[in-house]
Amino acid sequence: MQENLKIERRSNFTIIVNWKARGFGCRKVCSYCTWRDSPYLPHGPQSQDTIVRFLSQCQKSFVTISGGADPLYKFEENQAHLLEMISTIRQQGYMVRVITREIEHVAELKGLVDCVSISLDAEVLAGLPQYVDTWKGMHIECSVVLPPLPTETLLALQPQYRAIYHQLNQIGQVGAWCKLLVLRENLNSIFKLDMAKLSFSHAGIALVSRDTCLNGRYLTTECSAGHALIQDNASFASYLMSQGDIMLFGGFVKHVINPVLHDYDDIDLIALNYPALQKIERLFGYQFKEVSASTSYPRYFIGKSSKAGKTLQVILLNSKAEALQFVHHAQYDVDRVALSQGKFYFDQAVGEAAVRNAIATKRVRRIPSEKRFWLFHQDRAQIEKKHQVKLVKKGFSIIE
Ligand code: SF4
Repeated sequence: MQENLKIERRSNFTIIVNWKARGFGCRKVCSYCTWRDSPYLPHGPQSQDTIVRFLSQCQKSFVTISGGADPLYKFEENQAHLLEMISTIRQQGYMVRVITREIEHVAELKGLVDCVSISLDAEVLAGLPQYVDTWKGMHIECSVVLPPLPTETLLALQPQYRAIYHQLNQIGQVGAWCKLLVLRENLNSIFKLDMAKLSFSHAGIALVSRDTCLNGRYLTTECSAGHALIQDNASFASYLMSQGDIMLFGGFVKHVINPVLHDYDDIDLIALNYPALQKIERLFGYQFKEVSASTSYPRYFIGKSSKAGKTLQVILLNSKAEALQFVHHAQYDVDRVALSQGKFYFDQAVGEAAVRNAIATKRVRRIPSEKRFWLFHQDRAQIEKKHQVKLVKKGFSIIE
């Protein structure tokens, strides 16, 4: 009981909104958005009763209204829902913070909310000079999601974040309008940040760790803890990298080797037995769907997380030797490396230096390999074409 009270006291309470009865009410398409496809995304506003019940455990003074989608999306159409929600929260004795990117409507919240947090991106930054002066008298903060990089790399970016905070407050005629620049740890990142090392000792800049989000309470379609909604990619990645019966390859491994140059989308992995997938289902809430005939070899699966998390593209093979053969037959040198139990396996025929160089420069060479390699999918030619287009889109130059 005592333990529960402690958790509630330090938990932030957030109401996730999506005003659209169908679809996703946000104009943006951020790659790190964890809500767009979430099964927990609400459609339409939560009822007053549900909100009151949710807040009955909140020990903090502020309650946040956040995306989900954007709370100020199509403000003219949706303001009645938002204003009713704000009024319900205030009647329960809490202050209200709204997080948004729809800056053209922020001034309309003057006197109605206690804080507006502007989530920055390039488009929002460009639009600020037009609106900042209309926010006089409001408590405004800005926030940015940190890139998915390790602590040491982010430390080198600290002067840039200080400069951003300084530049924000040079915009407009109202003086220091941005009270705080909030830097949020990227929930998709596989690198857990050392917040003490990264601290800005306030100076107008605050860090919000992934633990704060994971330990928060969220009202979505139901009342949930952050852990139940959001995949902690750092602990998931460290699990995958430590297993003897899992071999990782593709974009994920390039990201581990050079996170500055390579982000990753889905996670490509080879499982060396079916129980390896069952363990992922049990420990991390994934569900696997076979996308090949169960009589074929190799077998292919797609793993979807029940939380906001990365999709897994899985090949089931019988042995580590086969897994390495598969990876070391990749069409380009840049992909000829696997990772398992913390160890990289470079294709010796190409050489570790050549693979690392291709990853570091994004200049990749096609390596001829047997056309009828027995572990390849029957649509291999199609798959290779798609992969080539993907690499070009990601800024790789290809030497055929
Ligand atoms: S602005 Fe927010 S809600 Fe919209 S796509 Fe980006 S992260 Fe998702």
